[in-house]
Amino acid sequence: DTRLISPEKRGEDLDTALRPQSLDEFTGQAEARANLKIFIEAAKNRGEALDHVLFVGPPGLGKTTLAQIMAKELGVNFRSTSGPVIAKAGDLAALLTNLEERDVLFIDEIHRLNPAVEEILYPAMEDFQLDLIIGEGPAARSVKIDLSKFTLVAATTRIGLLTTPLRDRFGIPVRLSFYTVEELEGIVRRGARLMGLNMTDDGAREIARRARGTPRIAGRLLRRVRDFAEVARAEAVTKEIADEALVRLNVDHAGFDQLDKRYLNMIAVNFAGGPVGIETIAAGLSEPRDAIEDIIEPYMIQQGFIQRTPRGRVLTANAWKHLGLQPPKEMEA
Ligand code: ADP
Repeated sequence: DTRLISPEKRGEDLDTALRPQSLDEFTGQAEARANLKIFIEAAKNRGEALDHVLFVGPPGLGKTTLAQIMAKELGVNFRSTSGPVIAKAGDLAALLTNLEERDVLFIDEIHRLNPAVEEILYPAMEDFQLDLIIGEGPAARSVKIDLSKFTLVAATTRIGLLTTPLRDRFGIPVRLSFYTVEELEGIVRRGARLMGLNMTDDGAREIARRARGTPRIAGRLLRRVRDFAEVARAEAVTKEIADEALVRLNVDHAGFDQLDKRYLNMIAVNFAGGPVGIETIAAGLSEPRDAIEDIIEPYMIQQGFIQRTPRGRVLTANAWKHLGLQPPKEMEA
């Protein structure tokens, strides 16, 4: 997958230079930040492990970053893994038994945990105990191991993907939302400053407007625009330079790329604007349903380009206008 605007993780996120290091440095998500600050302070004052935290929201909004910041502000170790990586119960057991008091264990994509692994997570979260079966057949016996009181910080893209027993074990659920253009503009400006890149305010704004409400995408667009500006020997990234670069990169004025446009066009042209079911869309685009629901649709819904109805997806007047197409008769009004 080479989509520039894909909010999913890729190698370049390992470039952590732009990652905010404290809650105060973290832009946006004001409500989540304010709440976390209070919970962190209270846990520190009591000398206890913070309650388990679940971050919910589309990829690239800062779930991992916030988890790291929390460990830092709590003054504890940060251990990180992800749901699909933990293959066996023993893998999780090894992680858990290595934690120290009050440490943060971060599990990304927790909805992709294998059910057998999820089972042993329940008593670990609730009683800080590991119930393991050792051996097989008649010789099998169960052992209980006491764990340090740790904080599980988990991330998922959609709350509905979690089983109810798992969801119920998080004392602090935190929903992250898309960033405003103003917030992203601040993030882009800070990134440019850290990169030593000259940028005008309207240059930063142009990148922010086309970053799909997502800091990870803003960072990626910023890097590509920088490449373009350097090769063009531009003195500063202006609105014009940013626009020229983004047009070349096939990122349109709404921040949509080819795949987004194929998605909108298909609903418009093949299904007269909908309603059309997600499975039909996925088959038509040859893209996995999950990817469409996690990556393409959330921003389109938030921006009012599509609506999710019980009978399927429906294009809004906004979307018809964006496509430059005439909506069917009953929509004109
Ligand atoms: P997620 O875990 O939700 O997919 P990450 O925490 O990995 O997202 O963040 C994606 C990228 O965006 C990282 O490179 C991070 O530095 C950057 N980022 C996220 N949130 C912010 C923010 N509020 N301010 C600045 N940069 C951010």
